[in-house]
Amino acid sequence: MQYYSLQNPQHRVSFREAVIQGLAPDRGLYFPAQLPRLEKDFIERLEEYDPLYIGRHVIQPFIGDEIPDNHLRQIVSDTLSFPFPLREVEQNIYSLELFHGPTLAFKDVGARFMAGCLGYFRKHDPRPVTVLVATSGDTGGAVANGFYNVPGVNVIILYPSGKVSTLQEKQLTTLGGNITALEIQGSFDDCQRMVKTAFLDQELQDNYMLTSANSINVARWLPQMFYYFLAYRKIKQWKKEVVMAVPSGNFGNICAGMMAAQMGLPIAHFIAATNVNDTVPRFMQNGKYEPNAPIPTLSNAMDVSDPSNFVRILQMFSASETALKAHLSSYSFTDAQTVAAIGDVFKQHNYLMEPHGAVAYLGLKQYLKKSPNNVGIFLETAHPVKFEDTMPEDLRGEISIPEKVKQLYDREKQSVLLPNDYKSLKNWLMGQSYAV
Ligand SMILES: *Cc1c(COP(=O)(O)O)cnc(C)c1O
Repeated sequence: MQYYSLQNPQHRVSFREAVIQGLAPDRGLYFPAQLPRLEKDFIERLEEYDPLYIGRHVIQPFIGDEIPDNHLRQIVSDTLSFPFPLREVEQNIYSLELFHGPTLAFKDVGARFMAGCLGYFRKHDPRPVTVLVATSGDTGGAVANGFYNVPGVNVIILYPSGKVSTLQEKQLTTLGGNITALEIQGSFDDCQRMVKTAFLDQELQDNYMLTSANSINVARWLPQMFYYFLAYRKIKQWKKEVVMAVPSGNFGNICAGMMAAQMGLPIAHFIAATNVNDTVPRFMQNGKYEPNAPIPTLSNAMDVSDPSNFVRILQMFSASETALKAHLSSYSFTDAQTVAAIGDVFKQHNYLMEPHGAVAYLGLKQYLKKSPNNVGIFLETAHPVKFEDTMPEDLRGEISIPEKVKQLYDREKQSVLLPNDYKSLKNWLMGQSYAV
């Protein structure tokens, strides 16, 4: 499969190059040159296939012959190595739990898949590759975990100081080895901007083989389609129209879901739920894309005002407003609404949501008001323990702490504190011994 830059459709690269480069040299995001359509028969018989087969079948056309079958099989099975349960919360409303992976957030899927691909492509290249990634919280942990000890890969994670939860910080600062955490005195958008600038810096490019592991990277973005197929597989026999609500920050996850629908998965409608960083809900209202300064919220992994992947969604609908609106609704919610929803759902249904999932739940409820016959699924993207600090106080005691994170709390944080300007990042990078 070839990928083109959204800034310039003439600029085309292979899957391998798109994964290694992350972003095109002109700053455009890569987009698949063809839209693979799944055979009707495959969708109709979805429940007969096992998840690993579905994963391979869905992702294979996006890779072509660039990764041999037996290796792709391995990558998919390393990626889908944990369950994705669907839980009934109330009548016609289900939570798709994506937090049973090693770092308790849905980003484990994309990070593991990308680590597998990059690990494979590295085999034929003697130069060390440096993964540079900005995180609003969960990406860092997932990427650190997915890439830990992958030979020939160094990982540098930029995160906004004081704006990630205790557990998130532990996950990205305590591994050591090939993982380095840079604690930036600024916002997530600052971190993202610094990373984007680094990719355009020729002097840096001459010294490093740099790539990104943000959802802009096609190898992180596309495997997120798996969730939607696996969820649909579970409810297909109900023969109801399904809508899915996705808590959205950088819009990578929802964009993957919409890609799955474009391939033929029958999801009737998507709801992009945001916190008060509402650039997309406003855009859907008035057609104007006007990012504001990012506002810190309880659902901090979604404190993004200029979501990178939204251009991919626009591309899918070739900027046709009618088509876009037929497939996507978008609503924003305040922290007060989020906290109230967490409390109400726990009281009424004994189900504990964390702030991101709660925003998606609210989006789903809002949409179902006008479309009550649908079955609605909201994506619960993280385990409540990851956002312990921001959960309503009276419910913190209800959070069960999984064994795999307990020992993290005792580990010592190791980070490098840097100001939020590109120069500081560059100076630090140029001083590292693993430049090529
Ligand atoms: C990253 C993240 C999101 C937002 O996902 P995007 O793909 O960036 O829209 C939502 N919830 C949690 C818990 C996250 O970590």
